[in-house]
Amino acid sequence: MQDPILIDLKAIRKSFRASDGKPRTVLEGVDFRLAEGEIVALLGKSGSGKSTLLRIIAGLIPAEGGSARYRERDIHGPQAGIAMVFQSFALFPWLTVQQNVELGLEAQGVAAAERAARADAMLELMGLAGFGGALPRELSGGMRQRVGIARALVTNPDVLLMDEAFSALDVLTGETLRTDILELWDKRAIPTKGILIVSHNIEEAVVMADRIIILSSDPGRIRTEVPITLARPRDADSREVRALIDEVYGLMTQRPVPAPQTSPVAPSFVDYRLPHTDVARIEGVLDLIAEPPFGGRADLPQMAEEAELADEELFPTYEALGMLGLAMVEGGDILLTPLGRHYAQGDHTLRQELFGQQLLTHVPLVARIRELLERESTGAMPASRITRLLEEHLETEEARRAFEIAVEWARYGEAFEYDYQTGRLTLPVDDEA
Ligand code: ADP
Ligand code: MG
Repeated sequence: MQDPILIDLKAIRKSFRASDGKPRTVLEGVDFRLAEGEIVALLGKSGSGKSTLLRIIAGLIPAEGGSARYRERDIHGPQAGIAMVFQSFALFPWLTVQQNVELGLEAQGVAAAERAARADAMLELMGLAGFGGALPRELSGGMRQRVGIARALVTNPDVLLMDEAFSALDVLTGETLRTDILELWDKRAIPTKGILIVSHNIEEAVVMADRIIILSSDPGRIRTEVPITLARPRDADSREVRALIDEVYGLMTQRPVPAPQTSPVAPSFVDYRLPHTDVARIEGVLDLIAEPPFGGRADLPQMAEEAELADEELFPTYEALGMLGLAMVEGGDILLTPLGRHYAQGDHTLRQELFGQQLLTHVPLVARIRELLERESTGAMPASRITRLLEEHLETEEARRAFEIAVEWARYGEAFEYDYQTGRLTLPVDDEA
């Protein structure tokens, strides 16, 4: 028999107005279910709409399309059975720890004596016994987040939502706290029936969840699901966990598959988006892969440590390396292609040449600009021709980014030049001679 469904989302859509007033779709066609007994982790790049989705479930903001239900009732406004823990603690600085924890109960109309007793018990469970009278600022970050979690758990929530709840803490503190929560859950010390965590930390997701959901960006859709059947507690250094981390890393760095064409006469899909990264980062990461200890093939989680870059900087860079044909992701590793190896050994001039050649053959936006410039007798044109074209294909902000990235890459690869003063694109000087 299927476990009862706690949260049921169907075809959720949500857009926000961007600064230019145009609506921007953040979530589109999101179907998701959380069943009793499950911990689910939601992963996705920054800006993919994870927090938005959680806030819809918490009833803090409405969806625009589709349906959001909690135990078969539509979600309208905050629900008594659903509690949320935020990244930024969100404690009231002028209230004591005890008062902060009692807040959620006050909202539910629980009498004072019961509030105090339940808050006491929860503070004890969270390792905060004796701190009820303290003010938040007197506590460490880890203890403050314990208060945030205590405040959510004191209401005996049926469903617990956690939005990057451990990411503001140092690694050790975060690990301790997540271990404590898993222990409460696995020993059934809390009545909570389902947990949904949002994270950008793949290890955290693999260690905690029964199922990982990966959200793609622009607009956010559910791209992949990875079930995890390993028993808890899980050792983050075990082979099984490392293999899963590798797998999820690999899935997150894949380019989303373009939507299938709906009619045979649809114009061919040209993807003008560019990964948000720059030449320095692309070459820096390529060099890291090439050098010892990796020597051309690197385990992705190990790269993350070695590169000292956030996933949000690394993933677009891997994507750029893939796009340029210099490296590819395969089974949780990133490895240089033969061209990538050649590139890594090259001097500055060779690198620039290869970069330019790959740009013109592999990056549609750069190739298009170059082609248009070559058709102009003057070898120049206003950039507005390109920005207009981009705005037809992409959201305003994405269009602006794509243009800036194309200019930076093209300058290095000597594919074209752009003058910010005059707003004109030109062929590089060398080519005209
Ligand atoms: P994530 O949590 O995955 O990083 P969010 O859900 O916070 O992503 O945001 C997704 C996108 O929606 C972002 O581009 C963000 O700027 C935009 N966004 C979120 N909330 C608002 C809002 N209240 N008004 C306008 N835009 C918003
Ligand atoms: Mg967020």
